[in-house]
Amino acid sequence: VFDVSKPWLNRVLERRPKAYLTAVSEVDFEVPERTTYALVGESGSGKSTIGKMLVGLLRPSDGAVQIEGVDLARETDAAKVAKVRADIQMIFQDPYASLNPRWRVRDIIAEPVAARGGKTEGLAEKLLEQVGLSVKDAGKFPHEFSGGQRQRICIARALASDPRLIVCDEPTSALDVSVQAQVLNLMSDLKDQFGLTYVFISHDLTVVRHMADRIGVLYLYRLVEEAAPEALFDDPKHPYTQMLLEAAPRMDGFGREVQPPEGEIPDPINPPPGCAFHPRCPIAQAVCKTTRPEMRRLGQTRVACHMAE
Ligand code: SF4
Ligand code: MG
Repeated sequence: VFDVSKPWLNRVLERRPKAYLTAVSEVDFEVPERTTYALVGESGSGKSTIGKMLVGLLRPSDGAVQIEGVDLARETDAAKVAKVRADIQMIFQDPYASLNPRWRVRDIIAEPVAARGGKTEGLAEKLLEQVGLSVKDAGKFPHEFSGGQRQRICIARALASDPRLIVCDEPTSALDVSVQAQVLNLMSDLKDQFGLTYVFISHDLTVVRHMADRIGVLYLYRLVEEAAPEALFDDPKHPYTQMLLEAAPRMDGFGREVQPPEGEIPDPINPPPGCAFHPRCPIAQAVCKTTRPEMRRLGQTRVACHMAE
């Protein structure tokens, strides 16, 4: 799968135009209805690519994306795909970039419904109140709002089509620390109120700790550990998860961009053999350099590491 929206990936591909990159592999997870699944990883771990596959913006070259019994990766019946797609919305990191600056908030929020010929009378006003804004805001333009308010507008627009699944790609990363918490609280409340399911993408474990039911940790396009938040924070099984958690107290506040843990992220076109994490792993053994660790179960945790016991 090529994710051409990534500038760094384009640079890699320019240098080596013939190279084939498996941007995401061995990523399998299930998200039960009305739960929140968090995908966490450093920049370039493949998390946004997975998010785009979940909403059908990218198609995997192999594998399946099953949503409500329809495989978005393979289904050729356009009506079936459209029906599933109508139940899925996406919220992005930069709320300003995803709002049309020339449109009034009323029209921005109602647009997805208007586009399908649905009834939009009073819809924006109702949703504005539900996301903690005012009915009067319907007549304003995006530039009249703060970053946090704009993200609330994006959330209202996502809710307008009455979705069941919302894929949130770093929805609070561009916001100030105090505002982040407010938006996360709002999202939690809306999840209960509307019976939503979230896939929540983040580079920051602390952001997802309190809202996720399961957390999947990605390293170099692969899921390396998956657990409930308590298990992941109290007893991380994978050395990479341990590294991320050790880096957490050094974070610059709540969820700002942080320095990745020590060591370089390897070249995705020539990932290290064996366990891709071995060049950075403090407990790597000989077997790690030659044999890829399978994902296995340890209690309620799933982990891909030879040494996980
Ligand atoms: Fe470290 Fe080996 Fe486990 Fe990979 S498999 S994380 S190199 S111990
Ligand atoms: Mg990203």
